[in-house]
Amino acid sequence: MTSTFPNLHILEHPLIQQKLYFLRAQDTSTLYFRNLLNEVAAMMVYEVTRNLPVEEREVDTPLEKTTGHVVACPITLVPILRAGLGMCDGILSLIPNARVGHIGLYRDHDTLKPVQYYLKFPADISDSEIIVIDPMLATGGSADAAIDLVKQHGGKSISFVCLVAAPEGVKVLADHHPEIPIYTAALDRQLNDLAYILPGLGDAGDRIYGTI
Ligand code: URA
Repeated sequence: MTSTFPNLHILEHPLIQQKLYFLRAQDTSTLYFRNLLNEVAAMMVYEVTRNLPVEEREVDTPLEKTTGHVVACPITLVPILRAGLGMCDGILSLIPNARVGHIGLYRDHDTLKPVQYYLKFPADISDSEIIVIDPMLATGGSADAAIDLVKQHGGKSISFVCLVAAPEGVKVLADHHPEIPIYTAALDRQLNDLAYILPGLGDAGDRIYGTI
């Protein structure tokens, strides 16, 4: 489904929506939350990669020679630490040969701006299909900064995947990176005063790692 944001894709598959339902529930355990998040991430990336370029290749079956198709470009996942890691294994289960770059950002208490504390990318990402991952697109500050960093390191073909998005964050990305598609399972109502998404699912990192 599309929305008033032309670059936003809301993935409404019933199984994605059902997993999101249980991820939102406050009594979902840490173990179940972690498993569900990886499962939903795998389902979402199936849609995200739908239009990847493919190339024809010969293959010998046990009976004869034929041709098939393989993905024609490298894929690089870029989880934003720490919550983005919670979607990574699920995506890697579908794309085991994807490379993974990491971006660590924290929010400065005074300026409220994201500050980079870690960055490690594969050597050359310029020909890669890059998927930036963070379960919650809230203010958009971290996602915006992460996409800037990917672009500064040569990334050209980029998508952003989150589980839940707030209109505020979607607008920031649409304004600063209008060419980048955003994939989400839900566009929620708004942010609260502490920049949590409403209705949301709480702090995704805390729920993944049991640090509540
Ligand atoms: N980050 C989260 O983990 N949850 C929110 O609601 C907003 C940002």
